Amino acid sequence: MNNEEIAQVFNNIGDLLGLKGEIIFKIRAYSKAARTIEHYPMELAQIFKEEGEAGLSNVPSVGPAINKKIQELLSTGGLEYYEKLKAEFPDGVIALKDVPGVGPKTAYKISKELGVNDLNGLEAALKEGAVAGLPGLGEKAAANILHHLQTLKTKDRRIPIGRALGVVEEIVGALHDVPGLHRLEPAGSLRRYRETVGDIDLMGTAEDPEMVLSALARLPQVTEVLVHGPKKVSVLVKNGLQVDLRIVEEEVYGSLIQYFTGSQQHNVMLRERARRRGLSINEYGITDLETGRVERFATEEAMYQRLGLQFIPPELREGQREIEQAAKGAIPHLVEVSDLRGDLHSHTSESDGRDTLEEMVLAARAAGLEYLAITDHSSGRGIANGLSDQRLLEHIDRIRELNGRIDGIELLTGSEVDIRADGTMDYSDELLEKLDVVIGSVHSAMSQSKEVMTARVIKAMGNPHVDIIGHPTCRILGERVPVEIDIEAIFRAALETGTVLEIDAQPGRLDLKDSYIYRAREMGVALVIDSDAHATEQFDNLRLGVAVARRGWCEKGHILNTLTLEELRAALGSRSAVGAHG
Ligand SMILES: [Zn+2]
Ligand SMILES: [Zn+2]
Repeated sequence: MNNEEIAQVFNNIGDLLGLKGEIIFKIRAYSKAARTIEHYPMELAQIFKEEGEAGLSNVPSVGPAINKKIQELLSTGGLEYYEKLKAEFPDGVIALKDVPGVGPKTAYKISKELGVNDLNGLEAALKEGAVAGLPGLGEKAAANILHHLQTLKTKDRRIPIGRALGVVEEIVGALHDVPGLHRLEPAGSLRRYRETVGDIDLMGTAEDPEMVLSALARLPQVTEVLVHGPKKVSVLVKNGLQVDLRIVEEEVYGSLIQYFTGSQQHNVMLRERARRRGLSINEYGITDLETGRVERFATEEAMYQRLGLQFIPPELREGQREIEQAAKGAIPHLVEVSDLRGDLHSHTSESDGRDTLEEMVLAARAAGLEYLAITDHSSGRGIANGLSDQRLLEHIDRIRELNGRIDGIELLTGSEVDIRADGTMDYSDELLEKLDVVIGSVHSAMSQSKEVMTARVIKAMGNPHVDIIGHPTCRILGERVPVEIDIEAIFRAALETGTVLEIDAQPGRLDLKDSYIYRAREMGVALVIDSDAHATEQFDNLRLGVAVARRGWCEKGHILNTLTLEELRAALGSRSAVGAHG
């Protein structure tokens, strides 16, 4: 069971206990644990496997009773307590309660009175007017539920961060020239670079707030203005994304952006810390509980300092170890975009890229990269237009020739070679040996069982020519689930063979994901952040890769392509050195 599934069980328990009229304290314990577990950066299954009960007890909000239940869920896949509780209610409660506008009480009413037990049944009952006829509901509530249900069915409301960033940059760019605008930046999960975001929160300061708010409301990409108040405007932009902009006073900006950046769990832990020091936090500042004096903060730095904490970068604010570390002054100096010297994964029009070799190289140089590996696809089954042996040899010559006549960037020859279904590589060892950089990637037979897939990738890592495993879980955000793979076994094999694992920075991939990066780094696995650019503008992907690496608490020393080319060549040349890096 993964964290999300465990969290869902506790959420359901909390809701069912609420229906039973249990004491609020007990209900909250479950919902709080669910929230923590859902966002925890390590899989509880892994923690339990390695450290047992004691490991689980270090997870915030997990007390002894919940700890026991997690253990039961992880070892049996079920929970007797939960099954007994569910049996006390009609079937539909669990299925219906999470529809916006429904909630546990209404779900209970609908399933008990109408015998509805799934979403299709709910939709039918809504359309027939049966729901509106229930006591306490009525036409308006039913219409509201139907609206939410239909939205729920047509799309997943959270969108990949790459798409959200595009929207935000357009908006911020368009508002840039409004006179008297001082600050304008995203808050919320976008600022923390979570891989998917829901609503977009923007926050700013300005001499004339109304001028900025109405400028946003008038933008051509706005399809509907939901709220337009004196300090806040909420709009829908094309593709249904909601954007909230708040213009606030300069002297409380620090507190407010801190509050709206979250995460919720981080803020809960921050408030707990404040309380122990006789202080209370709200979005406008910190109150001394004894004197009642309120302090306001223009910057987040000052606010964290007031709580005896080092500044915590937004990417770390997930309610894990960051407050404890900040109290010790031990927040790591996270890797930055400017630390990256090169990129080891890029494609040209020779395989499935859009732009020519020369165009890609010029773009990489313009992006400030000191070296670039050209890694077009092999001819295997996964990708159209992969390079045959002969075409690869010619490509190598062209890359070397271009390297000889271009200044300001060094080119490495390479290939993104398919790892075939049986774990063998798509080119012969003789051919692989001619390349500076070999990335092994899975592009086919993705539905293999966990055992087969794990063995397949480990076999590829055992090939001494394979330097890097590309996008190790093969997921596409919102489109393709990750392959089944024993990620811990992959990390161990990477260490043993000195194979580098990739953080593929394509906005739709971000693979490895943050929690896996966290774990890989902890184990000492060498990592690389690659753009996987298929077009000249995609070297910009690297900053998203850096953001997820930061969410995995990576410093410069954990990322191989922060090395100079000379150091990198040495590292790739002797694989034990790669393993020892960082
Ligand atoms: Zn690939
Ligand atoms: Zn690629």
